[in-house]
Parts: sequence; C-alpha cells; structure tokens
Amino acid sequence: MNNFEYARASDVADAVRLKAGAPDAKFIAGGTNLIDLMKYRVEQPPRLIDISRLPLTTVEETRAGGVRIGALVPNSTLAYHPLIESRYPLLASAILAGASAQLRNMASTGGNLLQRTRCAYFYDVATPCNKRKPGAGCSATEGLNRNHAILGSSAACIATHPSDMCVALAALDATVHVAGTQGERVIAFADFHRLPGDRPDLDNTLQADEIITAIELPAQGFAANYSYLKIRDRLSYAFALVSVAAALARDGDRIAEARLALGGVAHKPWRSEAAESVLRGQTPSPEAFGRAADILLRDAKPYRHNAFKLPLARRAIIRTLTQAANGTPQIQSIKTIR
Ligand code: SF4
Repeated sequence: MNNFEYARASDVADAVRLKAGAPDAKFIAGGTNLIDLMKYRVEQPPRLIDISRLPLTTVEETRAGGVRIGALVPNSTLAYHPLIESRYPLLASAILAGASAQLRNMASTGGNLLQRTRCAYFYDVATPCNKRKPGAGCSATEGLNRNHAILGSSAACIATHPSDMCVALAALDATVHVAGTQGERVIAFADFHRLPGDRPDLDNTLQADEIITAIELPAQGFAANYSYLKIRDRLSYAFALVSVAAALARDGDRIAEARLALGGVAHKPWRSEAAESVLRGQTPSPEAFGRAADILLRDAKPYRHNAFKLPLARRAIIRTLTQAANGTPQIQSIKTIR
C-alpha cells in the first residue's frame, strides 16, 4: 500500500473545498471498491477525503411525489427502506441482487454509481489497459472477454459497468444531484455514466471538484409490474453476465408505458427509447417482448468469447418482461427463475 494523506470533510462545502484543492484526491465512504483498487495499486491517490460522516443519510419524499436518497445511505438500508420497498421495489430488488449482505451494509448509494469495472485486466497492473493507463492498449479485445460488453464498446475499451442498482436507477429515470465549486447541478441518469469512446479512463461525467449528494426518483415507481433478473455464473456474489430491469404501467390488458434497461452488456446501463416505445399499446406477449429485445440489441457487437450474451440477453429480456407483466417479479432470495 502506498502512503497517502487523510482528511475528514466536516460538511459538503468542506468536501468540495478539499477536493478542489487536490484534484487527484479520492473521496472515500464505504470503501468497498476503492480499498481493493488501492491494494492492487490500480488507484494510488495521494490523499483520501473521508466523507463517511457527512449528513447525507436520509431517504425522504419530495414535493413532486418522488423520493430523494442521500448519497451516503447504505445499500442495505435503501433496499429495506419502507418507501423503497413499497414504491420502488424494482430498485430494492436490484440492490439485493448485488454483492453480499456484508458489502451492502458498507457500500453507499453514491459509491455504487462510482464503482469501477471488474474487467480482470483493469485490476492486473502487469497488463495493458486503456482505462487504467490511457494509450496503453486494451488487453481484453483479443484476450479473455467472456464478461465484456456487446453494446456501446469502442476500440479502446470493451469493459462493462458492474452495478445492479444502477440498472434499476436507469430504468426508473433517476437523477443525480451533485455539488461542486460552481454550485449544484442535476444530471439525468442516462447522462451520468459514459460510453468508453476514446476516453475509457472517464467512467462518468462528474467533474473533478464535484461530489454526489443525492439520487432522486420521480413519482412513477412501477410498483405493480416490475422485475429485475440477473443471470450470472453462480447464484450469488457474482457480477451479471446479463441483467434486465423491466417496468411496465398497464392500462387494462395493454401496456401504457414500458421501461427496459440492461446490465452486464455495456459501459453503462443500456436503454433504448425505440425498444420501449414499440411496447406501448401492445398486449403483453413473448412476440411483442421479442420485438423490443431485437431493437434493444440490434447494434450488438460480440467479441470472441461473449457471443453467448446475445441470445442470453434476448431470452432474459422476454422472461423479465413476462414476469413484470404478470406481476410475478423475480425474488432475489429464491434463485430459481420463474
Ligand atoms: Fe482496460 Fe477496458 Fe480493455 Fe478492460 S476492456 S483491459 S478495462 S481498456
């Protein structure tokens, strides 16, 4: 472990001030990813700014009928919060699909958004990786790429974003509240994470002096018709090969509104307005869900070891939308896919 300075922020303004004065410093809250990265020498921050005691731990209703989640609310607290369980069960389910109970107790809501890819080459400092060292090359493109992206990748990077929670937040049209030296701003969830392009070292659109203060959910929570299905190599404590967040609003036997987001397939949660709009007005059926899947996956570009993700994703989309339409969501404690 390298030596580093340690500072504790007393409030959000102090955190912003400390970060602005040391752009290479890292905020630390739960530390469930950053400490690993430091042990592997992937991250070597000269200074850690401890934000774990900032007053960003509430979950409260907004005037607009939604919910505002403080950035330091632990993942486990969020998953079992009555407002989230009752009104946004898609989010609760996605959180419980991720990591382990111990990690969820430590990991913060804001930190979940900022966790880095689990590409094995990224963690192995003996191998070239453009995300770790821009210009070094990508070991995964011609290497072992079974877990890698099939959508939105670039010649520079084919990594995936590892979060389950973020897939649900994308489907729910969450917004990210941040504070920096220029004041506060709100980022649409779709604009928060980046595709790799020629800058895979940048995971998101957060500026160097900014801190996440909250995540906000709009009023529509799709509590009646939702499901989060995660397909992985083992039944728990594994990252998604493919995951699907599906949410429907029904008008009788027709679909009035559909949300569909994929995890495990791209550098960010993957959504498509075209795939969702093709479901509007339709009667739920495997054929209609298959058409949405084909649109969502139409630009897929598999690599040598991950072509299996394409048919797997199509089947998972149809299954998850069927669960949502029937009001029989995947139960994370029961691993059998219904
Ligand atoms: Fe690095 Fe991205 Fe290539 Fe993985 S896929 S080795 S993270 S550049």
